[in-house]
Amino acid sequence: MAIQPLIAGNWKMNGLRADAIALASGIVDTYEDGGETACDVLVCPPFLHLQAVSGALEGSAVLLGGQDCHDAESGAHTGDVSVAMLRDAGCRHCIVGHSERRADHGEDDALVRVKATVVHREGLIAIICVGETLTQRDAGTTLKIVETQLRGSLPAGTSAENTVIAYEPVWAIGTGRTPTLEQVSEVHDHIRSVLSGIAAKSEAVRILYGGSVNPGNARDILALANVNGGLVGGASLKIDDFCAIVRSCA
Ligand code: PEP
Repeated sequence: MAIQPLIAGNWKMNGLRADAIALASGIVDTYEDGGETACDVLVCPPFLHLQAVSGALEGSAVLLGGQDCHDAESGAHTGDVSVAMLRDAGCRHCIVGHSERRADHGEDDALVRVKATVVHREGLIAIICVGETLTQRDAGTTLKIVETQLRGSLPAGTSAENTVIAYEPVWAIGTGRTPTLEQVSEVHDHIRSVLSGIAAKSEAVRILYGGSVNPGNARDILALANVNGGLVGGASLKIDDFCAIVRSCA
């Protein structure tokens, strides 16, 4: 069964409001000029720019997502954002468990699972990130680490409709280094087999690769059997690079 790929841009904590509007508008213009694309396209701006980017995306097929969420529905959580707020701003997806959240905010699998549960309950799609550090890769424990993260982070009720997995080796994020195609394949194949025991319609769950994806390496990575798209950081901040990655899905 063919899975429609997803190319997701994670803008992280970059850009002011005007930059976000220009980036979103540029992606919409370039994407629509390119005619039919073979994938879905998603952008995840900083929370503060969601409303402005939502306006810039209006009428286009480009989807909007959040980079994170709180695990409570509402309440006394200073500085946090709920999934309902993301939905209200026009988001259909929410990234959870990004390695920068795990490292900067001490988020663990148990918390990621609760966040993903709330994302599902609110009717959004959770993009759940997993990936090994360089020490773990060098120790030969990559598959074990990724499997442990999956088993710990995926809530009951995970399915192809409500969840996307992003495999992001921590050492490849923002470094310009990428695993070999064989290494990417090995992990994606393993994720697919682990999913078969814990997710409904597991064969249809999208598994994205993330970590220094750029226009030069996207086509080869996206052509791998169990790679169903990409989660793109740095290159998603450049209209031409991001749209070139989108076109690599063809
Ligand atoms: C990311 O942070 O999700 C990411 C993949 O970043 P980059 O593309 O910059 O490596």
